[in-house]
Amino acid sequence: MARHLITSAIPYINGIKHLGNLVGSQLPADLFARYQRARGNEVLFLCATDEHGTPAELAAAKAGKPVAEYCAEMHEVQSRIAEGFRLSFDHFGRSSSPQNHKLTQHFAGVLAERGLIREVSETQMYSPTDGRYLPDRYIEGTCPNCGFEDARGDQCDNCTKQLDPVELINPRSVISGATDLEMRETKHLYLCQSQMKDQLESWIDTREGWPVLTTSIAKKWLNDGDGLQDRGITRDLDWGIPVKKGDEDWPGMEGKVFYVWFDAPIEYIACAQEWVDAGKGDDWARWWRTDKGAEDVTYTQFMGKDNVPFHTLSFPATILGSGEPWKLVDYIKSFNYLNYDGGQFSTSRGRGVFMDQALEILPADYWRWWLLSHAPESSDAEFTWENFQSSVNKDLADVLGNFASRVTKFCRSKFGEVVPEGGSTGEREAQLVADLTAKIREYEEHMAHAEVRKSATALRAAWVLGNEYLQDAAPWSTFKTDPETAAAQIRLALNVIRLYAVISQPFIPDASAQLLEALKTDDDSWPDDVPAALTSLPAGHAFTVPDVTFRKITDDEREDWQARFAGKRD
Ligand SMILES: [Zn+2]
Repeated sequence: MARHLITSAIPYINGIKHLGNLVGSQLPADLFARYQRARGNEVLFLCATDEHGTPAELAAAKAGKPVAEYCAEMHEVQSRIAEGFRLSFDHFGRSSSPQNHKLTQHFAGVLAERGLIREVSETQMYSPTDGRYLPDRYIEGTCPNCGFEDARGDQCDNCTKQLDPVELINPRSVISGATDLEMRETKHLYLCQSQMKDQLESWIDTREGWPVLTTSIAKKWLNDGDGLQDRGITRDLDWGIPVKKGDEDWPGMEGKVFYVWFDAPIEYIACAQEWVDAGKGDDWARWWRTDKGAEDVTYTQFMGKDNVPFHTLSFPATILGSGEPWKLVDYIKSFNYLNYDGGQFSTSRGRGVFMDQALEILPADYWRWWLLSHAPESSDAEFTWENFQSSVNKDLADVLGNFASRVTKFCRSKFGEVVPEGGSTGEREAQLVADLTAKIREYEEHMAHAEVRKSATALRAAWVLGNEYLQDAAPWSTFKTDPETAAAQIRLALNVIRLYAVISQPFIPDASAQLLEALKTDDDSWPDDVPAALTSLPAGHAFTVPDVTFRKITDDEREDWQARFAGKRD
């Protein structure tokens, strides 16, 4: 039995994510986790909310809530939606957990002991009225480029120019509106990544079969310009993990917190500790410490391409720099972007479908199937309502749903709701079994490599084989002259439904469960031996005709949704 540690990039806390976010990490990670479990492997699948940083503080202020309370509520919301999409995390943690506080402070302490952290003095905008330093996003003023009066400290939304807060004309605090801002000296910690460039590069060179998208981004950061830069890992903020050297105070760093990008990946480890502390597991170290049993673990990370530098360089720098035997990632699966109907998803303009809205209009399986079968792997992909409608109606309703419906209804009308006995099968049936075997082996090969689209294509092809067989064998015609043979054909076809339910489970878990329930079986074992799997339901086994597994999306619905999610609502 192989052991798979699987993590999805952790979604930021400030709001509900759109379908592009979902297919960029959580959903393909869930597909892979479900598949590995279905193959009988041991899996630990972790995700969490990323809760620190300025955007969380700003979102909480906008909601009129203390930031800790806001984060706790949004964690619940994201957790419920994840359940709605059947994301099968073993634990959905929080980067603000006590476990992550302790571990982040531990890593910082060890890195400092090993001479990999240096202190840097810099100047930053300070607001005496607010009694605090202001991050760039907390400062607004007039854009020096276009004269726009509400330009942010990091960028002007009107002319898109990247800005430094000192460039703003008449800068003011977003918190209080105070204008008596001044530049003050402040001290920050930097992780000496430049010292680790060679170590990181040779580690990346040992990683086998990484996607080009992943390694090209990593190599660019390692070698472009002046090469890998040291990185600030602290901020002057209230909300976050206090800067400490292990358990000890860090002189000169009082009142500062670690930068969100330092503590967020460490949450992958802390999340396993939370999983144990929540009583769901009993040993996190055998997943994460190579001196405590994790040397045989295969660790796969899923993420959007914008997160690749942090996972190929920054987090490995933390782990390698510690000199401690932590498990490093074996395979990074990164994704391009999903666009929406001729443009981009936009949170601020309400453009596109967000996770909560998606579940309000259709069950999870419809979305899971479309998103995974169109995952933006080799290039960006685009969601269009026409494509969604056609994919759902053809693949799910006409192919898979129709097969299950025709076979069970025909059986009920001619033989009753029981697997018919008697008769024998011939060459066409042998051909079906051989074709299904070949297709399932192909599917397994793609799934093992987390090739999402190719897996979907192989699965769809397996569904099509059943329909083609039904057309050729035409048991409804056979029945008129040779009911015994028709019985054998239908017995096989009922078993094919069970086979489909088992192999489709990673993509469409609800439909899979519904079909197994209708077939009154809990045999969901993987078809390592396809011919044997196709005799799982014996003659005389009772079943019921399943309710409609997938319904079709109408043209009216499609037009209605297209208008509803076009954006500009406020
Ligand atoms: Zn401007």
